Amino acid sequence: MANYDYFLHYVRRLQENNFDALSLVTGAKGSGKSSACIALARKYIDMYGFVCPFCGIDFYKNVYAIKKDSLGNPQFYIPDYVKNDKCWIQCPENRELDLRTGQKRIVSGCGHKFKYSQRKKIVWQAQKQIAYSNEDVIKKIFSLPNFSPIICDEAINFASSLDFAKTESKELKKLFTVIRPKRFWVFFLLPELGWCDARFREGMSSFWIRMIDRGEGILFEKDKGITKDAYHIQKAEELMGTVKFFSNMTKIKKNLMKHPCYFDSFHFPELPEDVYNDYEMVRNAVNLQQKVAEQSFSNKDLGKVAAYNLLNNWDRISVGVQRSRDLRLGYDILTNEIFADPLTRKRMVSDVTVRNWVRGIGDYVKSKGESVVVFDTAKDEVVGENVELEVKL
Ligand SMILES: [Zn+2]
Repeated sequence: MANYDYFLHYVRRLQENNFDALSLVTGAKGSGKSSACIALARKYIDMYGFVCPFCGIDFYKNVYAIKKDSLGNPQFYIPDYVKNDKCWIQCPENRELDLRTGQKRIVSGCGHKFKYSQRKKIVWQAQKQIAYSNEDVIKKIFSLPNFSPIICDEAINFASSLDFAKTESKELKKLFTVIRPKRFWVFFLLPELGWCDARFREGMSSFWIRMIDRGEGILFEKDKGITKDAYHIQKAEELMGTVKFFSNMTKIKKNLMKHPCYFDSFHFPELPEDVYNDYEMVRNAVNLQQKVAEQSFSNKDLGKVAAYNLLNNWDRISVGVQRSRDLRLGYDILTNEIFADPLTRKRMVSDVTVRNWVRGIGDYVKSKGESVVVFDTAKDEVVGENVELEVKL
């Protein structure tokens, strides 16, 4: 089984030449999408990551040279003059234009030079490199150094082709089109390639990794020719055939090698236990935070918030309606404008919760008030309040 060093060098060269390195990673639940991305990102950090021994900032630098072996295949190596400290490595100074003074000022980095033997490596931390929500993605885009790997664990939140209406997703899509100068290596984890918005899939991505089994991934490189389907998904479907629990994976892998976009296939070994635990801990903490944020308001509070927003933020809500595709107040406006914290504008309930509420009331209306059983569907609600609601209705 091939090792993925060559792929990482390839990605790095693309980044340096200002090409998108966006990689789409798909596969069933439990096929190890996250573990595969973590393995690739950790190796990348190990190869290119530096911590300045003077100011302590993280940065990425390519100190590898390339030569051809006897078969003409490229080989990447760290040359002796680097290893033997015959050259300097400089901590990059990042400058920003200060709009008040019109002067450029240093925002990070010290510009000090040091030797390769003084190198300190960036330590992998799930929290630093993996983004779990749209907000988190934006935060990382603005805070991580150039060339950083960024794993978007829940890319479905903003990269979904079905999600076109959400303002937040739209903003993120716009943001992704302007961050190329930062040369990140971004991973989108998605259930299926078809779910990914075409702007990302056809426009901005360069690779597709399909996990076909636990820890087994097939790497495809995007067809840069003229095509509406840059990864020839139809062809991949044909070659894969029907996959079941006891399907012969070796045969499927062999078939997929005939795919026009086939690049390589990898086996990703299990992550070291501490790395996996760290990943799980961060993921669970983020999930919990979201839950707590949602549950710390009673439904009565949410009713008050909605009333306030309807009365005081009607202009914004109606602009949202006017901009919507079919001029209707949809769930996105409900969650993003009406059930949103009037101060922070953060949504206070999930889309799914609101849909359940509305469905429940819909059932109630259909029953013409004969039955109030619908209110039992929302088990997480405070009982006392449901009773109150029933009486008033
Ligand atoms: Zn420095």
